[in-house]
Amino acid sequence: MSDTQFDLIVIGAGPGGYVCAIRAAQLGMKVACVEKRETLGGTCLNVGCIPSKALLQASEKYEEASHGLAAFGVKVGKVELDLKAMMAHKDKTVKSNTDGIAYLFKKNKVEWVKGAAKVTGAGKVSVALNAGGTQDITAKNIVIATGSDVVSLPSLPIDEKRIVSSTGAIALTEVPKSMVLVGGGVIGLEMGSVWQRLGAKVTVVEFLDRIMPGMDGEVSKQMQRILQKQGMAFELSTKVTGAKVTAKGVTLTVEPAAGGDAKTIETDIVLVAVGRRPYTDALGLKDAGVALDDKGRVAIDGHFQTNVPGIYAIGDVVVGPMLAHKAEDEGMAVAEIIAGQHGHVNYDAIPSVVYTWPECASVGKTEEQLKGENVAYKVGKFPFTANARARAQNNTDGFVKILADATTDRVLGVHMVGPAVGELIGELTLAIEFGGSAEDIARTCHAHPTLTEAVREAALAVDGRPIHI
Ligand code: FAD
Ligand code: NAD
Repeated sequence: MSDTQFDLIVIGAGPGGYVCAIRAAQLGMKVACVEKRETLGGTCLNVGCIPSKALLQASEKYEEASHGLAAFGVKVGKVELDLKAMMAHKDKTVKSNTDGIAYLFKKNKVEWVKGAAKVTGAGKVSVALNAGGTQDITAKNIVIATGSDVVSLPSLPIDEKRIVSSTGAIALTEVPKSMVLVGGGVIGLEMGSVWQRLGAKVTVVEFLDRIMPGMDGEVSKQMQRILQKQGMAFELSTKVTGAKVTAKGVTLTVEPAAGGDAKTIETDIVLVAVGRRPYTDALGLKDAGVALDDKGRVAIDGHFQTNVPGIYAIGDVVVGPMLAHKAEDEGMAVAEIIAGQHGHVNYDAIPSVVYTWPECASVGKTEEQLKGENVAYKVGKFPFTANARARAQNNTDGFVKILADATTDRVLGVHMVGPAVGELIGELTLAIEFGGSAEDIARTCHAHPTLTEAVREAALAVDGRPIHI
């Protein structure tokens, strides 16, 4: 590395960090991005969103070829799984994405400093280079985008063989006969879906009395019913108190969350998916005087600035949903703020998608939140059983639910279960971003026959006038 002085140093090249670095370079800054992994893209591209979605896509195809095609009059012979080829598809998808970021860094003249960064003071970073040695670099501003890491439980030490995190679960070399998911959240249900489709008997052990606790209650309930129909078993209000790894697998001891009689569950693999924690290990924040909040996240103000002027933080390492697109939006916003512009993130319009089959997607407030805030709202709901395209696809599970302000009709929240709702949520996010009303959606022409018509019908239903139900 020739230069040691920059306008901006970004620490971490996940979706928060790499987007911030590129946006800052677009705005004319000389940018260094320090990343200690051998490839760019962070958790998301290397071990998170991208490999998990590649496996979800591939296992969906296996499931459809095995069980879904006969109803369309398509006869297939014996369907066989080639797990090695499926994993190769995942690895190729990851590589094309991580290589893509390396290309974008070159194109935008962002300098990738390969190593582990330590903040040594305002404007000062020391990098333990992957190639050996240390490099001190300086800049007017620093953005911390170091992301998050798996939360582990003392009773379930992760060995990535029998007791795995999501990182182990995307790289199993054979299909387990059985798998227990500890945690019925997003990672558990997505990775559990992959291995269930490939043949594992999957059981969810969840501490709370419902799965996907952050989601709208109706979505959680419907999703649990659908997953149960697919063969997933649920042990809700249950906690794991011990685990013994044996030659054949793992013996888990569980008991009711409120206390009571313990029982054991024998399983091949345990996936621990009880959340993620902000990652600030070995970053030197204490010595640099950068304050953390009560949950160990880097504390920031409304402009992403920490208590130390010139040091900012974004993404999973700060408050807010741990989502790649939230990190990306913050990356762009903070680069613009540093450049003297008015970067901004609208936290009321951040979509969330769970890539199970069918998918769940939501944006804005849940019914539970609106009730808690004493906001009067109207509900418009439309089931996919009444949508022509969904019928043609044999994908009629699920619904679209639009929550609109009772007085102004403004869209406050949208919650969906159904085919491709992860794509449909874009329209609703835009509606919320634009301050749109249910009537705006209802009066917008939607192509026929598409799944988007279910969105329009739900908007019509807010005013009690759906056509097709
Ligand atoms: P990260 O992506 O975690 O990147 C941080 C980077 O900083 C890492 O590469 C790390 O090596 C580097 N780093 C840390 N400390 C240092 C240091 N001291 N020096 C140098 N480098 C350092 N989100 C979605 O929106 N959609 C999904 O479908 C989705 N699926 C997921 C599936 C799984 C299995 C997992 C685990 C997560 C998933 N997420 C998903 C969450 C998403 O991955 C994160 O929200 C996102 O990656 C956060 O981005 P980030 O830039 O804040 O941090
Ligand atoms: P999560 O917060 O979604 O779910 C964790 C679940 O574990 C919760 O239901 C919680 O009640 C339960 N739990 C906590 N402690 C437990 C215990 N001791 N025993 C049993 N259950 C327990 O967390 P996750 O699934 O690990 O995912 C981590 C993060 O990654 C999430 O914040 C999510 O935003 C992100 N992610 C997003 C996507 C996506 O957007 N599609 C996919 C994967 C991950």
